[in-house]
Amino acid sequence: MYHDVIVIGAGPAGMSAALRARRPKTFDYLPSDVLVLEEGEPGGISSWKETYFTSPGWTYRRDELRNMLLSEMESFCIPMRNERVESAELSGRIKRIRTDKGEYEALAVVIATGMRNGANEWQYFGKGLYATLRSIDVINSTYAEICSRHEKIIFVGSERMELALSIWKDACDKEPTVFVENEGDRVMEIFGEGNVEGIKVLRNGRVEEIKGDAVIVDFESYMLRPTTQIFDLETEDGFIKVDRLGRTNLPGVFGAGDISGPPFSVAKAVGEGVTAGIEAYRYAYRVKFGREAPAFAFYPMEGKDGLIVPEIPEPEDDWVIGALDRNLCERYPFLRDGVEYREFLKHFTREDYERMLRSYSISVRPPL
Ligand SMILES: Cc1cc2nc3c(=O)[nH]c(=O)nc-3n(C[C@H](O)[C@H](O)[C@H](O)COP(=O)(O)OP(=O)(O)OC[C@H]3O[C@@H](n4cnc5c(N)ncnc54)[C@H](O)[C@@H]3O)c2cc1C
Repeated sequence: MYHDVIVIGAGPAGMSAALRARRPKTFDYLPSDVLVLEEGEPGGISSWKETYFTSPGWTYRRDELRNMLLSEMESFCIPMRNERVESAELSGRIKRIRTDKGEYEALAVVIATGMRNGANEWQYFGKGLYATLRSIDVINSTYAEICSRHEKIIFVGSERMELALSIWKDACDKEPTVFVENEGDRVMEIFGEGNVEGIKVLRNGRVEEIKGDAVIVDFESYMLRPTTQIFDLETEDGFIKVDRLGRTNLPGVFGAGDISGPPFSVAKAVGEGVTAGIEAYRYAYRVKFGREAPAFAFYPMEGKDGLIVPEIPEPEDDWVIGALDRNLCERYPFLRDGVEYREFLKHFTREDYERMLRSYSISVRPPL
């Protein structure tokens, strides 16, 4: 069973995209069915610390933005699976996504995987976890401070972290343990009771533990080498190439946030996520109903009636129904992921279907 839209990554870009793809406007919209795949903790790197949205005057406390977006996702019944996307076939009409746990299909895909795969770093920021997203001067003084406070330091970065390591050598005579992330090798978990005590990594296909009381994640090196390899899309300076509407070189595939290149900011990630989400909605709608979604006045509207209310399917038709309304999906959890119409009719009547359709509390998908 496929989805209308799959969003990969639940940072600010991915969650914003999922929300807009689900329901591009508040009223009178047929919702679409969206699945989010996130390998780490939702929130992405924006939940590591407080975030300046534009400047210090517009700041979100740590986790504030993440919690707002998560609570919206919950109220729109958007399912999220804790899975790592490992490969994707994106060129066909139906897009196929493979994760470490399963396989999914979708009409449209939004890639919002950021600069780096996430683990649970956000739990340890300020507790022995540091990030080098700052100027050289600040890095210099921060390194000196880390050196004086910690004994066993672990550096995590891409193979481009020479700069960070050379600054470290000047600032501290303690030899760090260096872990280089690449397509296969990555940090799976930071662990420690309260403060950092080490990291669990996947290296050459095996899980290992590296002990240490401080972890420095070198973001400068990721900026030079984002992880776009699994997607086989056109890139520019290593980042996924997108146009103003988040479209990549493949129809139905969109990119948003850090993965589309600098500048790296939450405001840009949210803005691009919203744009890619709306465009993914329009794309999936065209595939499903063969016409432009009556999304906004500035898009061409086909027909006078504006909003489409699809026909009532016959019980034997393979329509898939999902719930948007929170009460509905809490009461009937199977509706969260969508069910075939004949299964739906075991719990509801045709009149229920029509009522839910007209109140926009379900997503519907005809067979393709
Ligand atoms: C220390 C630090 C401080 C910062 N401070 C600010 C600030 O004050 N203001 C500001 O505007 N910006 C700040 N930024 C930048 C900002 O956090 C990012 O630009 C923003 O989080 C990007 O959002 P995103 O959704 O594109 O990516 P991310 O937040 O990186 O989210 C991407 C998500 O995708 C997931 N993912 C990756 N690969 C896969 C896969 N294969 N399968 C499944 N899931 C996957 C990751 O686990 C992650 O959750 C800061 C960054 C750092 C590191």
